[in-house]
Amino acid sequence: MKIGFIGLGNMGAPMAANLAKAGHEVAGYDTADVTVDGVKRAESAAEAANGADVVITMLPNGQILRKVAEEIIPTMETGAILLDCSTVDVDSARAVADQAAGSGLRALDAPVSGGIGGAQAGTLTFMVGGDDDAFETAKPLFEIMGQKAVHCGPSGNGQAAKICNNMILGATMIVTCEAFALADKLGLDRQKMFDVVSTSSGYSWSMNAYCPAPGIGPQSPADNDYIPGFAAELMLKDLRLAMQAAEGADADTPLGEAATNLYTEFVENEDGAGRDFSAMLPRFEKRGRS
Ligand code: NAD
Repeated sequence: MKIGFIGLGNMGAPMAANLAKAGHEVAGYDTADVTVDGVKRAESAAEAANGADVVITMLPNGQILRKVAEEIIPTMETGAILLDCSTVDVDSARAVADQAAGSGLRALDAPVSGGIGGAQAGTLTFMVGGDDDAFETAKPLFEIMGQKAVHCGPSGNGQAAKICNNMILGATMIVTCEAFALADKLGLDRQKMFDVVSTSSGYSWSMNAYCPAPGIGPQSPADNDYIPGFAAELMLKDLRLAMQAAEGADADTPLGEAATNLYTEFVENEDGAGRDFSAMLPRFEKRGRS
């Protein structure tokens, strides 16, 4: 396929490189000066999008996505697919999809999980919103960039799945860290705590696959001085998107809100910025009840 790729950052660059490596013709554009192996450099977003079968965007937020969509939609050919893999608010995803449909294009929102490691290894999971036929057309690209793509329903549902997942993740990581700090104070050995919880009803991805306690469980950022991994500020971004969506949909999300407030405090007023989101554990270790 002929692919335009806009946003060649930490995630976009390796995703574009994997598509080029698999034999697709990829033209890439980023506002920063970036060169990616096998990817032809375009001078503008419109140039990257022009004549492409699929245009992939991997951008920081919904506002930038809307601006880029405004620029590229008029240059895209009827029937081409606009495939946004960024994490953005549900409203922006649906607005861009409507605009694309109005110009005879097909749109998919397909945020990812799996992080930079997953982008490099081509093992991302895609959560996809949009029409069946567009999903089927894009499937071979998901198979190159990832290991799993779940079609979640109409436009915006990929973003909805992503923020619901990450709201669970944020709250679960916090309570897992709280529990380790409580166990310490009760004199319960961390390894014993892991052995019990990881095979009992308290188990979770945060405990079993990404244990926040150094030296316990599988290798995780905790074993590397909490260097991300998944940075606390990215978790905060996703929690804020979840709260924005909850407000718009009139959904009651008290634990999501508590997690958002804690990560805000951690990132903005404590030492959380630039650290992995599991560095909540050393935070709780240092604290008492007040
Ligand atoms: P990044 O900041 O490394 O990359 C974004 C890129 O977009 C940058 O290179 C920037 O120069 C470029 N850009 C900004 N405005 C532009 C414009 N108008 N036109 C063209 N390029 C423009 O961010 P990232 O880590 O690659 O994340 C990208 C998206 O993926 C975000 O929405 C993020 O939330 C999501 N995401 C990131 C991770 C992760 O672990 N990094 C995991 C899952 C999802």
